Amino acid sequence: MSEAAPECLEGVDTDAVQSALLSWYREDHRSFPWRETTNPYEILVSEVMSQQTQLGRVVEAWDDFLQRWPTTADLAAADRADVVAFWSDHSLGYNNRAKYLHEAAEQVETEYDGSFPETPDELSELMGVGPYTANAVASFAFNNGNAVVDTNVKRVLYRAFGCPDDDTAFEQAANELMPEGESRDWNNAIMELGGVACGQTPACDEQSCPWREHCEAYHTGDFTAPDVPEQPDFEGSRRQFRGRIVNTLGEHDELALDTLGPRIRVDYAPEGQYGSEWLRDILTDLADDDLVELDESDSETVARLRR
Ligand code: SF4
Repeated sequence: MSEAAPECLEGVDTDAVQSALLSWYREDHRSFPWRETTNPYEILVSEVMSQQTQLGRVVEAWDDFLQRWPTTADLAAADRADVVAFWSDHSLGYNNRAKYLHEAAEQVETEYDGSFPETPDELSELMGVGPYTANAVASFAFNNGNAVVDTNVKRVLYRAFGCPDDDTAFEQAANELMPEGESRDWNNAIMELGGVACGQTPACDEQSCPWREHCEAYHTGDFTAPDVPEQPDFEGSRRQFRGRIVNTLGEHDELALDTLGPRIRVDYAPEGQYGSEWLRDILTDLADDDLVELDESDSETVARLRR
C-alpha cells in the first residue's frame, strides 16, 4: 500500500480484498448488454440514459437507440429534433441529455476524427459528459479510468473499512483499493457489490458478499451508512429467527453459537445487542419445546436439532 494510503485502509489486506471482489464478480454478475461491449459510443449512451432511468428500463431504450443510430457518425448526421423526440418517447428524463449526446457525437466526428478520446480528462471535454461519466467511459471502454465513486461505492467503503463520510477520503480509498490496470472489472465489481449485496439493507451471507470477513460493519453490527442514517430493519421477529435456526441446524450436525449466529442474522455480533446472549435465549426456548439440544461446556455452547 502506498504511503498516501488513507487511514481507513490501514491494516487492510488489499490483495485479499481485491482478489475476493474480482473473483466474485467474474464468477457471476447481473448481465446488462452494455457490460458485454467495449464500444465507447454504446457505453456513453448507456451511461447518459441510466443517469435518470432504472437500469431495467434502460435496456430496451438503449437497444432501440443503437438500432436507430448505431454509430457516432449516424447520430451526428441525425436531426436533433428526432433524437429529442426519441428521448421523450422513451421517458428518459431531461431532453437536454439528448441534445448533449447529439452534440457529443458531432464533436467526436469533427474534433476527434470519429474516434473517441480515451482518457477521463479528454472525455470530459465532450458535451454533457461530466467527470463521473467520463471516468465510466474511460473504464468500461478503454480500461483506462480511475476508481468510480458513486453512492453505492461510498456505502460499501464506509461499512467495510470505516472510511469517513468525506468525498476526498472516499476517492483516495477507492483509488487505493483498485488494482492497477483493472478499472473495467473493478469499477463494475464494486458498483455491483453496492447494488446487489451491500444495499441499504445489506445481504451479508457468504454467497452474497465476498468481503464479509474483511468487513467492519459485519463485525460490529452497525450497518448505518451515509445514505442509511438509521440502522436498517432486518425484519426480524422472534418467530422468524426460530425458523431460521431450525433450518440452519437442519443443514449441519451441530453448530457452536458464534458460528450459528452470523448464519441467521447479518448483524450478529457475539457481544452485541444481537449476540450470544440473545441467541442463547431463543435456543433455550427451542430446547424447552424439544426442538433443539444444547451442549454446554466451559469453552463453548453447541446447538443441534433434537432428532
Ligand atoms: S459484509 Fe455486509 S455490510 Fe459488509 S460489505 Fe458485505 S454486504 Fe456490506
